[in-house]
Amino acid sequence: MLILGLESSCDETAAALVTGDRRILAHRLAGQEAQHRPFGGVVPEIAARAHVEALMPLIEGALSDAGVNLREVDAIAATAGPGLIGGVMVGLVTGKALAHAAGKPLVAVNHLEGHALSPRLSDPDLAFPYLLLLVSGGHCQLLLVEGVGAYRRLATTIDDAAGEAFDKTAKLLGLGFPGGPAVERAALAGNADAVPLPRPLKGSAEPHFSFAGLKSAVSRAADSGQWRAEDIAASFQQAVIDCLLDRTARALERADGATALVVAGGVAANQAVRGALERLATANGLRFVAPPLWLCTDNAAMIGWAGVERFAAGLTDPLDIAARPRWPLDPDAETVRGAGV
Ligand code: ATP
Ligand code: MG
Ligand code: FE
Repeated sequence: MLILGLESSCDETAAALVTGDRRILAHRLAGQEAQHRPFGGVVPEIAARAHVEALMPLIEGALSDAGVNLREVDAIAATAGPGLIGGVMVGLVTGKALAHAAGKPLVAVNHLEGHALSPRLSDPDLAFPYLLLLVSGGHCQLLLVEGVGAYRRLATTIDDAAGEAFDKTAKLLGLGFPGGPAVERAALAGNADAVPLPRPLKGSAEPHFSFAGLKSAVSRAADSGQWRAEDIAASFQQAVIDCLLDRTARALERADGATALVVAGGVAANQAVRGALERLATANGLRFVAPPLWLCTDNAAMIGWAGVERFAAGLTDPLDIAARPRWPLDPDAETVRGAGV
C-alpha cells in the first residue's frame, strides 16, 4: 500500500509518501518560522498564503524523491482539521483535487489522529490499547487509544496547552520563536529549583491539566527581575514535567489493559519530558514509546501513516467533506467540556 500524506494545519507545510509496511519513501517539509518570527507567533493569514505557495512544489518533490507517480498511490490522505482553517483548507482542497484528477480515494485525517498513531509508524510492536499523552501546541490530553478511530479521552487541559505554555514562556523571557526548543535550550543552563512556581491541579482526582496559572507565575517572575532567564526556563520546564507526570500517573490508574505509555505531539520532542515519562513507564512496568523527534512536531509522514491505517480499515471520505477548525478525537469530548478540544 502507498499513501500520499499532506499536512498544512498550522505553520508547517509537508508532503510524504508512506507505505503500508512503514517505509517513508519521501518526506518534504517547509517551515514558516522566518515569516512568523517578526510577529512572535503564527499569523493565520501569512500561514495560509505560505501553504498555497509551498504545497504543490513539496508534493512534486516528494513524488520525485520516491520515484513514484500519482497513479501509483492507493489513496491521498490530507489533514482536514483541527487547525487554522485557511491552512487546513489549502491542504484538503489540494488533496481533493489530486484525488479527483488521479481517480484515487481521499482519506480526510484528523491532525490529532496523525499525532496519536505516529508512534505506531516508528514502532511496529506498539499494539492497542495504549495510554497516550498528546502534548502539542494546541492540545494536552490523555487518551486511551483502543484502535484506529477509537479514542477514549481520559483528560484534557482546562485552559492552555502545554506547548502553548512553552511558547508563551519563551516570549516572556525574550527567547524567541518557536518557543519550545528555545526554552529547552535555555533550561539546560539553568537551575530548576531556583524559582518557586506552582504545579496547577497536581494531586487532583481527575487527571486534567491546567497551565494558565503557571504562565502567570512565569510572567511575575520575569517582571520581578530577580532571576536569570535560564533559571526561570529550567524551573518552568520542571513544573510542566511535574504536572505531566502527576496527571499521567493518575490516568494510568484508569488505563485498563494498556500495553504501553506513549507520548506524541510537539512537546514530546523535549528530552527532559521524554526522560521523565520513560522513568514513569518503567516504574509502572510498562513499555515507553516516543516517536523520533522529527515525527513529534508537525509533519506529513504521520498524516500518511494515519491514511495507511484508515485506508486499511476501509475508511475513505467523500470529496465534499468539509475542513474543520475544531474536531475532537473523542466523540464525547464536546459534552465533557465545551472548550477543551
Ligand atoms: P496541535 O497539534 O495541537 O494542533 P501544533 O500542530 O501547532 O498543535 P505541534 O507541531 O504538534 O503543535 O507542536 C508544536 C508545539 O510543540 C509548540 O508549542 C512548540 O513550542 C512545542 N515544542 C516543540 N519542540 C519542543 C521542545 N523541544 N520542548 C518543548 N516544547 C516543544
Ligand atoms: Mg509548527
Ligand atoms: Fe500538531
